[in-house]
Amino acid sequence: MTQFSYPDTQLLIDGEWRDAVGGDWIDVIDPATEEKIGRVAHAKRPDLDAALAAVERTAPEWAATSPFDRSKLMRKAANLLRERADRIAWIMSREQGKPMPEARMEALAGADVIDWFAEEARRTYGQIIPGRAPGVMQMAIKLPVGPVAAFTPWNFPINQVVRKLSAALAAGCPIIVKAPEETPASPAELVRAFVDAGVPAGVVNLVYGVPAEISEYLIPHPVIRKISFTGSTPVGKHLAALAGQHMKLATMELGGHAPAIIFDDADLEKAVKIMAGSKYRNAGQVCVSPTRFLVQEGVYEKVLEDFTQAAKAVKVGNGLEDGIQMGPLANERRIPMLEELIQDALDNGAELKTGGRRIGNKGYFFEPTVLANVPKSARIMNEEPFGPVAVFAPFASLDDAVEEANRLPFGLASYAFTRSPQTMQELGLRVQAGMTSINHNGLALPEVPFGGIKDSGHGTEGGSDAIEAYLSTKFVTQLPG
Ligand code: NAD
Repeated sequence: MTQFSYPDTQLLIDGEWRDAVGGDWIDVIDPATEEKIGRVAHAKRPDLDAALAAVERTAPEWAATSPFDRSKLMRKAANLLRERADRIAWIMSREQGKPMPEARMEALAGADVIDWFAEEARRTYGQIIPGRAPGVMQMAIKLPVGPVAAFTPWNFPINQVVRKLSAALAAGCPIIVKAPEETPASPAELVRAFVDAGVPAGVVNLVYGVPAEISEYLIPHPVIRKISFTGSTPVGKHLAALAGQHMKLATMELGGHAPAIIFDDADLEKAVKIMAGSKYRNAGQVCVSPTRFLVQEGVYEKVLEDFTQAAKAVKVGNGLEDGIQMGPLANERRIPMLEELIQDALDNGAELKTGGRRIGNKGYFFEPTVLANVPKSARIMNEEPFGPVAVFAPFASLDDAVEEANRLPFGLASYAFTRSPQTMQELGLRVQAGMTSINHNGLALPEVPFGGIKDSGHGTEGGSDAIEAYLSTKFVTQLPG
């Protein structure tokens, strides 16, 4: 396999790749080996002030750049990302742990997201509204909201940035991205593709540091007009409250606890294959990961057994090696959290079918885990596991399944397997979630809505509505003379 070298990551401020003003750095750790592999520049106030000055200065010029030209530049960035996908995949796998093919797919999917928003840039249509008096011309026009601050997590280092970055740029907004300190180099490569494609200096800025310090400075700052955050529900609520206090627009993509409802009339083989693949992808560190497996009583034992076999067959190891299907957890802190949740489930009467423990003591590897007969009282039936743990419970009827699916305050993804058109239709209407995928995993394409309801946040980061979050509607009425 080709070896690349892991780079140190600098800040991008006003078009210049540079160290932080204070000269501080944060270590980057390979989660598969626990080795220090590099460093990322640690931004402080003077760096943030420089980034704020850059987005303030460039906002009018970027807004005035024609959508056609913004679109061309974005397509160029998408192509650069595609050309560089192999190296970026290696970097991402090294810093985040996911298997190389998954990392490569993420880079390529990121290019598709850029292309989607590049197309959307040219379709920010307004409206002409018939006037009441002769000669009155009434127009609703779409204008960029202004400078954006985006905060993104480590689980999909490119995907989480690219949706915000591309939508903002397409709409005509400059942006400051606070990317994840754990996985800094792959999002920096995404940003580099835009720089190399010719984005004007200051339109895109990239910082890292102490997340709370940066968000608490940027969100209230008068230059910033919109924020977008992906991460946990508690942090999201805190940031949304701060945004509300300062009347900032906010998009919140937060945690979930996705039900996967398998009915007795389903193609069970397909259901197990697709759901086991989805469950252990990225070691379960996915906001739309299926987590609560609700299986109809008559097929519960069979599905549980087949799924357990699929979990046991998952090949865990260093994501850089060939044939690995699941890498380590990205952060050491997740291991004790998972162990606690699993122990609590067992104390509440659940049965451990497989897994349940850390693998070895070097690298943050965790066994693909299946817990059966988990009662509602167990914490893991209520808190997002965010790890490679599948939690099973039986249900009797459609109404029971819907009631359990809707019991939690979360509402992000949901999955179901059934051959009944009637059941499909009911699920689509009754499951309280931003997304329902039936008989396949069809979520997260650039052209379809992506977002949650209830405690999982608000706003969509995909589909034709997504760019709206970066536009305001202005009404202009005019009478000649
Ligand atoms: P965490 O809550 O500490 O952090 C989640 C993310 O938010 C991280 O990227 C972090 O840098 C950022 N963050 C934390 N405090 C912040 C602040 N005050 N201002 C700005 N950003 C801030 O949790 P964690 O241990 O990193 O991740 C585990 C939990 O996070 C999971 O339970 C999951 O719900 C959530 N998470 C969700 C997603 C997602 O895709 N929705 C991604 C990663 C993590």
